[in-house]
This record gives sequence, structure tokens and C-alpha cells, in this order.
Amino acid sequence: MTTFDAVQVGGATNGSGRGAWYDVVVIGGGAAGLSGALALGRSRRSVLVIDGGQPRNAPAAHMHNYLSRDGTAPLDLLAVGRAEVAGYGGQCMAGSVATVERMDGDPARARFQVGLSDGTTVSARRLLVATGLLDELPEVPGVAERWGRDVIHCPYCHGWEVRDQAIGILATGPMTVHGALLFRQLSADVVVFQHTAPPLSAEQAEQLAARGITVIAGEVAALEVRDDRLVGVRLRSGAFVPRQAVVVAPRVGARAALLRTLGLETTALEIAGSVIGSYIAADGTGATSVPGVWVAGNVADPMAQVITAAAAGLKAGAAINADLIAEETTRAVAAFRARNTATPKPCAIAMPGK
Ligand SMILES: Cc1cc2nc3c(=O)[nH]c(=O)nc-3n(C[C@H](O)[C@H](O)[C@H](O)COP(=O)(O)OP(=O)(O)OC[C@H]3O[C@@H](n4cnc5c(N)ncnc54)[C@H](O)[C@@H]3O)c2cc1C
Repeated sequence: MTTFDAVQVGGATNGSGRGAWYDVVVIGGGAAGLSGALALGRSRRSVLVIDGGQPRNAPAAHMHNYLSRDGTAPLDLLAVGRAEVAGYGGQCMAGSVATVERMDGDPARARFQVGLSDGTTVSARRLLVATGLLDELPEVPGVAERWGRDVIHCPYCHGWEVRDQAIGILATGPMTVHGALLFRQLSADVVVFQHTAPPLSAEQAEQLAARGITVIAGEVAALEVRDDRLVGVRLRSGAFVPRQAVVVAPRVGARAALLRTLGLETTALEIAGSVIGSYIAADGTGATSVPGVWVAGNVADPMAQVITAAAAGLKAGAAINADLIAEETTRAVAAFRARNTATPKPCAIAMPGK
């Protein structure tokens, strides 16, 4: 799927046969990547955004909790972002990055070659990786089909829209009670389907009971849909529980396999002893352990919402610009010193009478 037309890649070329050169190539043009590209473009950096056109929230009709843009369609926000990036000379192209390689072994002068799946290559002094994450959904018939509509995961993204509805929590891991209590804030009719989750502790069972949340034992067989609406949950026992929305807790896996060639592996995201996902570890600016490579958004922080992913992209973009400035200044100082400390040529002075 592409959300926009490919552009002709048009950075500087250096005759190396390694494609156009950019100060920064941004891999992933969601909120994080575009926000980083905007900061870089406004800093007069040459920047190319390469985007596969599959932002995580694409299944949802609307995006919420983005101050001043609440209710905007997810793809509309990104179209506006691409236009803003283009306004400062940044380029956005549709495409999928397949390979990333370091072009030299000197970490102080990191250079990267980026290969697209169509065979195009481009080169960059720095990389901003904003590839997001993949939601691995529970394998229950109906879940994938209704994802982002009446199968949801986040009270801040969809909670208001399901307020006062009959909500089911599909328990699969350690987030069950947390999710149930958050959705109880939005509706008095919340039930937990125990499904494949480990048994609740006595404390958890008491918390749910105290908040009027019923726990239903047994595995869920399928979600049932009528007239394009979720109507309920069918258990393996044959019992049917009417529900208007079902909450799931997907495993959240960083889309970062292409960084392995640079030596960047994902870190496991653990909650209460269970691994619920992965992310690329980075410092507060998004700098990774590989010099020259930054990450922003869901690839680095699975909990990031659109507005916080955009903020992380801005932070990373600013840090990359500062890093490039530091490198350029070091070089300028070396050249300046070379000019000013050059051995003076002996000058012949004509002496009167000689
Ligand atoms: C159903 C659903 C609804 C949501 N609703 C909301 C909401 O209402 N409000 C909210 O704040 N948050 C919401 N979220 C969370 C939101 O989706 C994320 O916070 C946001 O998408 C993170 O932005 P990002 O830029 O990090 O990643 P993404 O938006 O996922 O963008 C990453 C981009 O990188 C591209 N990419 C990946 N790999 C490559 C590659 N190899 N080459 C080129 N491009 C690549 C992808 O195609 C994608 O376009 C929702 C999530 C889901 C699942």
C-alpha cells in the first residue's frame, strides 16, 4: 500500500555509484519520521523520508488525543506532514527499505548506504529510523478483521468512542487487569474473558470484583459480527456473551530487523515477568548504541501515542542536526588551524646598499 506517489530521488551525488547523498535519510514516514524530517529541513539539511505507507493506526478511521487535530483521519495527518516537509526542501518517497549498511568503519564519520526493495540505493551521513511497530494480535477468529474498529487496545485512542458500551477484555497476558480497570473508567459494563491468561491473583480478583467487573472462565472461540458490527463473544463451551467492543493486548514488536546488519538488536519489553514486545534502546534524544543512527516513535517506545511519537521525532531531528554541526565544526577548526599554522615562507628583504 502506498499513501503517496514516489518522487525522483534528488540529493547530491558524489560519483561513488552509491546513489544520491543526503545529510539524513529517514526510514519510516509516520508522525515520528516526518516530524524529525521537518526539524532537519528547517535546519537546511538535505533529508529524504522513505516510507512504506503502513502507519500503525491506519486501520482506525480517526486519531484522538492529538491536541488541535483530535478526530483527524490518520492518513490525512501524514499527508499534511509530508507537505510541510516538502515546504522546506525535504523529499518524501514511497518505498520499502530492505538493507542498511555502514560504508566505512570510522564511527566519527558515519556513512550509511540504504537499499530499497526496488533496487534503488541512497546514502546518508546520519539515519533516523522511525519504522514503528507491528501489533501481533491474538489468534482468535474475528480479532484481525475488526482491529481498529470494535476490537481495540487503547483507552486513549478509542475509549471515549466506546463509553457506556458493553465491553469485553480478552485476557492473554499481564496487562489484563490494568486494561480492565482503565476501561471501567469509561463504562460500567466490563467483563473479562479469562481465555488463555494465567489465573488472576487474589488481589487482582478482588480489585475487579470491587469495581463490578465480572470474570468469565474458559477459552474464547470467536468474535461474532452481524451487519458489519461486533455483536458478541462465543466461548468454546458454546456460551455467547453479547459485547459491543472487545479489548485486546497485542504483542508489540519493533519493526527493526533491517538494523541487525548495523549490530542493533531489539531489547525485550517485559512486564511482570512476561515479554510483551520489543524496542530499540536509545538515549533521551533517540541516539542508539551505533554512532550515526537515531530512532524515534514506536520503534523505540511502544507506548508512544501519535503526539509523543512526533515529539520524539523532533527531538531526534534536532540532535542529529547538532551532531552534524559538531562534526562540521571539528573539520572547520582543523582546516582553520592548518591554514593559520602553516610554516611561513622565508621572505627576502632587500637591504639598502647590498
Ligand atoms: C488501531 C490503532 C489506533 C490508534 N489510534 C491512536 C489514536 O487515536 N491516537 C494516538 O495518539 N495514537 C493512536 N494509535 C497509536 C499510533 O498508531 C502510534 O502512536 C503512531 O503510529 C506511532 O508513530 P510512528 O511514526 O512511530 O510509527 P508509524 O505511524 O507506525 O509509522 C511508521 C512508518 O514506517 C514505515 N516503515 C516501516 N518499516 C519500513 C521500511 N523498512 N521501509 C520504509 N518504511 C517503513 C511504515 O510503513 C509506517 O508508515 C493507534 C494505534 C492503533 C494500532
